[in-house]
Amino acid sequence: MKKPKIRELREAVRSLFSKPYTTRFPMEEIIVPEGFRGKPQFYEEGCVGCTACAQVCPSKAIEVEENLDPANPTRRLTHIPAYCINCQECERNCITGQGIKLTKQFDVSYFSENEVNHSIEHQIILCSHCGGIVGAKKHILWVMKRLGSLSFSQADYIEHIQKSLDIPAIIPVKHEKHEKIERDEIFNITCPKCRRAVYIEDEKIHF
Ligand code: SF4
Ligand code: SF4
Repeated sequence: MKKPKIRELREAVRSLFSKPYTTRFPMEEIIVPEGFRGKPQFYEEGCVGCTACAQVCPSKAIEVEENLDPANPTRRLTHIPAYCINCQECERNCITGQGIKLTKQFDVSYFSENEVNHSIEHQIILCSHCGGIVGAKKHILWVMKRLGSLSFSQADYIEHIQKSLDIPAIIPVKHEKHEKIERDEIFNITCPKCRRAVYIEDEKIHF
């Protein structure tokens, strides 16, 4: 049998009287360092429902579900910790800078995913012509605020401004469903798909 070396013996004796290098978690709370990237969380006040965070997420950890029921159209964003790699891209690219932030929570353990998945819901606005999604209502209002008076060039926007200010419609916007949209209706349409269709149709006439 090989004899133990003096250095190893010394280390063994020293370790008997020194504190362990590991922590006592979960018996004791761990204070994580500043800038630690834990589980992301949505914040109701800051999120406008634009889905930018879901689009930049490299691991598809933010799921977007859309309910197109005209009576109550909604968009739900759900963060799924099981797919999240805590890269912080969602926080960096959030258009408001306040909608999603990484917390310091690192101990995400669960029996069922639904216990830890975290959602936020937004009302969405549908195009009055094709029924497609124009955007989240809160997002549109956020854009309008930034545009200032420029947003008054869009009849649909004026309607939303009036509603958000809780004032009676000064300029009523007519939403009539019909097969073909005419060029003169373009200012009543916020849906990019319909606007594009009208412009293409218009260009065709000139060829
Ligand atoms: S931290 Fe990264 S992986 Fe996790 S939700 Fe945000 S963007 Fe996706
Ligand atoms: S506001 Fe921020 S958190 Fe909300 S959907 Fe847009 S990017 Fe995501």
